[in-house]
Amino acid sequence: MRSGFFMSKDIIVETDNFTIEFVKPGIWAVIAKVGGVAVSNSGIVDLGDKTILFDTFMSPLAAKELVEKAKDLTNNEKFLIVNSHWHWDHNRGNQVFHPTFEIISTTKTREIMESDGKEYLAKDKAGGLQNSLTNMKETLKKDLDDDSRGIVTSLITRYSKLVEEIPNVSLTLPSMTFESSLTIYGSERKAQILTFGAGHTDSDAILFIPDEGVVFTADLIVNGRHLYMGDSTPLEWINRIQDVAALEPKFVIPGHGNKGGNEIVNNQENYIKHIYEMASQMIEKNASREDLDKLALPDIYKSWPFPQNYANNINTMINALKSN
Ligand SMILES: [Zn+2]
Repeated sequence: MRSGFFMSKDIIVETDNFTIEFVKPGIWAVIAKVGGVAVSNSGIVDLGDKTILFDTFMSPLAAKELVEKAKDLTNNEKFLIVNSHWHWDHNRGNQVFHPTFEIISTTKTREIMESDGKEYLAKDKAGGLQNSLTNMKETLKKDLDDDSRGIVTSLITRYSKLVEEIPNVSLTLPSMTFESSLTIYGSERKAQILTFGAGHTDSDAILFIPDEGVVFTADLIVNGRHLYMGDSTPLEWINRIQDVAALEPKFVIPGHGNKGGNEIVNNQENYIKHIYEMASQMIEKNASREDLDKLALPDIYKSWPFPQNYANNINTMINALKSN
């Protein structure tokens, strides 16, 4: 099994925003860089007569860069675009492809992009992104360890560029929707877009290349970081991870973090199970929100980015268990 780390030998293209990494012939993982404006990972799958791009980043500039690199790699001028879910770090690059190429999502994802996606874009244009940047600059004034300081500094670089670009971002919705699965046949290989229901959001689609055992999971699975459960159905999410595991993938490209093998799926399952266990214990102890904030991070999760999500995730799980 290939490890999720030490993958640099696979990097074939590198820009300020992402690296493009070899997975299998005709299949590449696009991994977002911390200081860049891609923010989420993407995928390039050359079907022969056309190329699928799985997710379009948070930035039209990064998406434009992606399509240029993908043209070079595949010699294709024809693209099909997929949006995995409504979160804007995966689809604000859509405008680069409209109206030349079809943009595909689940019916539900399109609906949420039209409501919540639109609302969040308006907020970010009205100063939301600028506020995030200001908060990061405030954080940098605090006493931070070197690792945290490095991450915040990179995020400031990223958000400074995103703030500059946001006036030019326009809401671009998918042009084609599906309910549960869609198989796309190319001259050289086929790919399936699958959704199994609510998990990370109310609708999450993955891209699966069955003949090669490659899966692009978007945020159902992230690697080496605390996931974001704020829009999730926590008790269903574990089932969605098992749905991905049932595909028996050999190569896994997560929504955020490095690519790897099946171990990424197992790690994600263990993380959510841990959050579930902690939430159950906290309910038993009748713990307050302050108690959650005082919880020490387990050693294996200590070095992960976004540690503030840990207590939030336990809290989200507690609420889900209580209302179940
Ligand atoms: Zn997401």
